[in-house]
Amino acid sequence: MTTTATGQLRDIEGRVLAGERLTADDGNALYACDDLSWLGGLAREVQRTRTGDTVMFNVNRHLNLTNVCVASCEYCTFERKPGQPDAYTMRIPEAVRLAEQMQPEGLTELHIVNGLHPTLPYDYYPNAIRQLKQALPGVAIKAFTATEVDWFCELTGRDAETILDELIDAGLESLTGGGAEIFAEEVRSRIVDHDCHWERWSEIHELAHGKGLRTPATMLYGHIEEPRHRVDHVLRLRELQDRTGGFVTFIPLRFHPEGSRIPRPIATGAEAMKVFAVSRLLLDNFDRLKCFWVMHGLTLSQLLLEFGVDDLDGSVVEYKITHDPDGQTPDTMHRSDLLRLIREAGRIPVERDTRYRPLRVYPRHPAPDEDRHERPFRVRQLPVANPGA
Ligand code: SF4
Repeated sequence: MTTTATGQLRDIEGRVLAGERLTADDGNALYACDDLSWLGGLAREVQRTRTGDTVMFNVNRHLNLTNVCVASCEYCTFERKPGQPDAYTMRIPEAVRLAEQMQPEGLTELHIVNGLHPTLPYDYYPNAIRQLKQALPGVAIKAFTATEVDWFCELTGRDAETILDELIDAGLESLTGGGAEIFAEEVRSRIVDHDCHWERWSEIHELAHGKGLRTPATMLYGHIEEPRHRVDHVLRLRELQDRTGGFVTFIPLRFHPEGSRIPRPIATGAEAMKVFAVSRLLLDNFDRLKCFWVMHGLTLSQLLLEFGVDDLDGSVVEYKITHDPDGQTPDTMHRSDLLRLIREAGRIPVERDTRYRPLRVYPRHPAPDEDRHERPFRVRQLPVANPGA
């Protein structure tokens, strides 16, 4: 760091600790900073003032009803064209059977994301939700990206408000946060192959919030975007959150290049730490910052708890989108695994429902293993805020 840069960062630190909102320039300066310990300490301090030592998680299952998709996004390894040998579309009873298998785990949420199937009738989707809800009445249905809702509009000629009303009537309790990728058009036009861009994505989430749904928001990082695009992305979300207050969490998703058409190495752990910490510092109106452990691995996910993360997804998973090309990351983790991961970091696990209401607060102990010198680990502790000094 240069002296000037250090001065700028100290200024940012003072403003963060005084509760002031950061600017795009601040965000860019934070991405240019390589003092990860300082960055993590500041993000953790902000997170601590919002949610203390708690880390939320829920017991969910990811379901992908079909991988058939008309689009061919550059980063996607999930979509298949009709007729490809591994293209599939589940019959609704099969989806119900898969979901029912998870009930002994204490499932509270189904997370459903699909391709944009060209010929599957729209009625399939509300019918699927209705039947899943009938079979699992205590399980919340979090389903469809804004991109899928936009696709349903195209399939039916109905507007997004009507589609949302129909899906809510069938039992939908939340949209998923996907389809966001990177909002900046100069990046988006090179990696996204459908027409649901920022204006439409934000319109659909705003409509959903207006109807009482609470939704997550995502960002796909580590492909062709630059740090300034990430800053732009989260500031658009911050502005939308100012208007609606309907986002429950922000989820940076690490791009996995294996099998995609974007040839670049996977983002490093240091890059992930910056993305999470800077997002936490910029998003002053989001309560939670989620790490999706399937895309970050377990040890990095645990470390990211010191970089602003206080929300982990998920504990019971069959996740095809990222797992297939990778094969390295475990695709299933149970409640006990997640509890251990959170407790080892010295934090308090809180199981939540889809609307982020606490269902159960777990004790912090058992205490960390005395033989492990690093537990609970701490990135640099910041001095007590004294903005007047
Ligand atoms: S990201 Fe979604 S819309 Fe794009 S190709 Fe993959 S499944 Fe289709």
